[in-house]
Amino acid sequence: METSSCQKPREAFVTLATTDSYSKGAVVVAKSLRRHGTTRSIVVMVTPNVSSTARSALSEVFDEVIVVDLLDSQDYLRLSLLGRPELGVTFTKIHCWTLVQFSKCVFLDADTLVVSNVDDLFDREEFSAAPDPGWPDCFNSGVFVFRPSLQTHTQLVQHANQHGSFDGGEGLVELLLQLLAGHRSVQTLPFVYNLSASTVYVTAAFKRFGHNAKIVHFLGSSKPWSSSGVDSSSQTMSRYWDMWWTEYRKDCEKEQGQSRQRTGRK
Ligand code: UDP
Ligand code: MN
Repeated sequence: METSSCQKPREAFVTLATTDSYSKGAVVVAKSLRRHGTTRSIVVMVTPNVSSTARSALSEVFDEVIVVDLLDSQDYLRLSLLGRPELGVTFTKIHCWTLVQFSKCVFLDADTLVVSNVDDLFDREEFSAAPDPGWPDCFNSGVFVFRPSLQTHTQLVQHANQHGSFDGGEGLVELLLQLLAGHRSVQTLPFVYNLSASTVYVTAAFKRFGHNAKIVHFLGSSKPWSSSGVDSSSQTMSRYWDMWWTEYRKDCEKEQGQSRQRTGRK
């Protein structure tokens, strides 16, 4: 039977910004996906506190800007052990399972930069994620493939409320896996889909495989938009840090150009 275009499965890349500053990262996620010619929709979830200025910058580059409630683990004890008190809000990621207008999605953290076409991620199934560089037996929740489902969403919210995650924030994927355990198998994504700044990349492995990088993840408290230069622990990331700034500045120049047009200035 012929499938009409409205029945065509919709697939999307999804990111999240709960603040204006993470919105800057999100803009770069969208621009870098477009630069590498994605054929999928690109959507961003924002929380109500994100300013109208930031939302309008997001709507320039995203197909959809979707407002979701803030979900905070409020697990301040575990988060302070992690040294990242701000990460309780990463529980908001769970809302990506409500995007049931899409049949399959790839979640990307707002601090990622796409450096090659990654549409092949849609050939993967829920649940796929790459190993965490800090503890490779765990998965990192910066990049993952999932299928939106209100049932999974409800289960995850309940589970998160009851148990939290083991680190108060980014243990989110582990939390999901506990929930899905026995139901679905987990596929491990190759590391090049979630390459992060860590001492591991000063090794020969980075020299050997780094050229295959597909998604770079500025994991950790130092983000490109919050610092003027590369932090000393991640010199090998300087190339990607520069690429992030090039993409970001391109947006700013475009916005400034548009506001000049609007005000009739040159
Ligand atoms: N995030 C956000 N606001 C915050 C903290 C996090 O919107 O205040 C979102 C954003 O998409 C971010 C993700 O949650 O990329 C995970 O946080 P982060 O990337 O800072 O954690 P890391 O990857 O450094 O562990
Ligand atoms: Mn991140």
